Amino acid sequence: MDDQHLMEKIVSLCKRRGFVFPGSEIYGGLAGTYDYGPLGVLLQENVKQLWYRRFVNERDDMYPIDAAIIMNPHAWEASGHVAGFADPTDDGKMFNVMFKTSVGAGEEATVAYLRPETAGGMFVNFKNVVDSMHPKLPFGLGQVGKAFRNEIAPRDFIFRQREFKQMEVEYFVRPAAWESSFEEWRLLMHRFAEEVGLSPSALHELDVPENDRAHYSQRTIDFEFDYPFGRKELWGLAYRGDFDLSAHAKASQVDLSYLDEETGERFIPHVIEPSLGVDRTVLAILASAYREDDMGGETRTYLALAPKIAPIKAMVSPLLKNKPELVAKAKEVRTALQKVHPWIAWDDNGNIGKRYRRQDEIGTPFCVTVDFDTLGEHPELADTVTLRHRDTGEQERLSIEEVAARLRAALE
Ligand code: ATP
Repeated sequence: MDDQHLMEKIVSLCKRRGFVFPGSEIYGGLAGTYDYGPLGVLLQENVKQLWYRRFVNERDDMYPIDAAIIMNPHAWEASGHVAGFADPTDDGKMFNVMFKTSVGAGEEATVAYLRPETAGGMFVNFKNVVDSMHPKLPFGLGQVGKAFRNEIAPRDFIFRQREFKQMEVEYFVRPAAWESSFEEWRLLMHRFAEEVGLSPSALHELDVPENDRAHYSQRTIDFEFDYPFGRKELWGLAYRGDFDLSAHAKASQVDLSYLDEETGERFIPHVIEPSLGVDRTVLAILASAYREDDMGGETRTYLALAPKIAPIKAMVSPLLKNKPELVAKAKEVRTALQKVHPWIAWDDNGNIGKRYRRQDEIGTPFCVTVDFDTLGEHPELADTVTLRHRDTGEQERLSIEEVAARLRAALE
């Protein structure tokens, strides 16, 4: 399959099966906007939750934050965005990609911006967190949320949108410790890439050369991914020195230094910033997982999603839908599996092969079928079901408890 075809197939699957729709579609769409449908929301939530777990919750040195999307515009002046967050248009003029809005009514209205990145909300809350939580260095803030950029040429599906989501960390360190922290986050990003199921061979690190880096950064790594439309930035990891806190301290006239109680020293901490785009991650996951193979003499499409990322964890189905005993037993099995995870689908439409194909296409790792043996037609098989594995199509006969245990293990 060539790359253009692959991209078309991913976009079409996303729409057909309820992952991602063009934004405002019944009005002809709006360039650079997409709406996530039910399965897209579930997949995206799994990505965000895993990020929260690995980048914030499991660590003793990280604090979550949820800052406002509209900030005092002085914050974006201090950060350099008002003056310089611009891309060249076709005729060579620089165009600031921040979305402008106004706050307040009538003559009182003032210009404000929709945040172009979540980072700003973390720097302006540095002092609030230090004063309220008393963290010791090194520590960081983590935030997931929307960001807005009036991209001149939005393209490549959810890769370059005008409204998107980021998962960002601002990690504050003693200046001398930046390299070891940088390395720690670099490795964590690799582990996360592996855990969400990105093809290792498609992921590349680009050490951004000095003349392409922001002047305050001594090191920046772009994590690039081989998308069907080429090798492009997936995530970024930057050492930002003390640029942000110093700039905000100067512009706001508020002291943003940190007092090291052990040494009595006061200084502006330096910052390591791992910045991950949610949508670019979702697209890289889909591109990594999309497969076509031959099964039972037919071409089938499936998504080889990691179970913890898959929107639906398992599908339960009665072999025949017109046998009330089978249906009742299958409902019992579904309820038992829903104790492991709520997203267990039910499907009793059409023949069993078609039901399996429908789940394959959305990446459901397991299908469970209840038949007459489950009901005890052969007493030694009573309360056993068929567990079918998505990637291989292999089936095994297991007790209901064993299936629940398998599911639990796959989601750990
Ligand atoms: P690019 O060079 O591709 O425009 P960038 O270098 O401007 O990206 P950053 O400012 O580093 O991107 O933003 C951090 C992360 O936010 C990116 O690595 C990406 O995952 C995500 N991101 C940035 N812009 C977009 C966008 N328009 N649509 C979707 N995700 C985006």
